Amino acid sequence: MDKVEEITQKIVEKFERHGVKVNKSEIKKRVDLLLNEFKVPEGEIIRTITNYLIREHGLSKEILFERESPLVKIAEITKPGVWVSVKAKVAQLWDSSSPNVSQVGLIGDETGMIKFVIWAKSGKGEVEEGKSYLFKNVVTDSFQGRMQINVNRFSSIVELEEDISLPPREVSIVGALVSIQQGSGLIQRCSICGRAMIKNSCPEHGKVESYDDLRIKGVLDDGESVYEIILNEENVKSLTGIGLEEAKRIAQEKLDRGAVLSELKSRLLGRYFKVTGTKGGRYILVKEVDFYKPELKEFKLLGEAI
Ligand SMILES: [Zn+2]
Repeated sequence: MDKVEEITQKIVEKFERHGVKVNKSEIKKRVDLLLNEFKVPEGEIIRTITNYLIREHGLSKEILFERESPLVKIAEITKPGVWVSVKAKVAQLWDSSSPNVSQVGLIGDETGMIKFVIWAKSGKGEVEEGKSYLFKNVVTDSFQGRMQINVNRFSSIVELEEDISLPPREVSIVGALVSIQQGSGLIQRCSICGRAMIKNSCPEHGKVESYDDLRIKGVLDDGESVYEIILNEENVKSLTGIGLEEAKRIAQEKLDRGAVLSELKSRLLGRYFKVTGTKGGRYILVKEVDFYKPELKEFKLLGEAI
């Protein structure tokens, strides 16, 4: 395909996607003229002819930006002046100090958070905290060294059914381990998907090959709230000295996998821990855990209280 044909095809397809039939031979003539006669660069040719066709057919200008606004994750937004689309949840709305701004706040997806500004002139409807939207054809911008996205009159905001998750939050808790739940101890995981097996069977793949793993699903109580936590093999080993190999040895010796769980319960239940981890859904996935030893001055305070 020669260059003229190629550019013509791009323009024709762009309009066809929007259900608009355009005159191909006429476009081809214009492309030929701009490219070969006036030596106009390709991007400029497409923009010029698209603009002309938009006027001619009385269309919305959105078509102009369609090809330039791919769907991206927030972490991928690193340069100002780029047209993008993002699916994100409104995490927070701030009070706007400017009459030119209709809304300002923070949106996020699982990769990160970014500031957004909806310009009053854009004429877009309002977004709500906690709801997820497709922000289509928005422009990236950099303000005081931080990236943001701007919603202007060429953008659109569409509410989504799906719930976009925000980036994992790191939390730190001190509390007592009040319960160790089922599915803890020396468990078997599906060799295909890694899910924990229930009665030698993967909930997804049925009776398949498995491998051993060690973990604790537990409940931590800090006196005000309870938190469900997951300790991985490394965590369990750092607390009890029992790693996967040691756990398998215990199970073999006692001819009972449940013996591992009993051993872990006797060492850990009711003790105080300081855990740091990320909150994803229901559980806190623990990164670091240690027995919690109150400071000497806390003991003193306790003494004074008594
Ligand atoms: Zn599986």
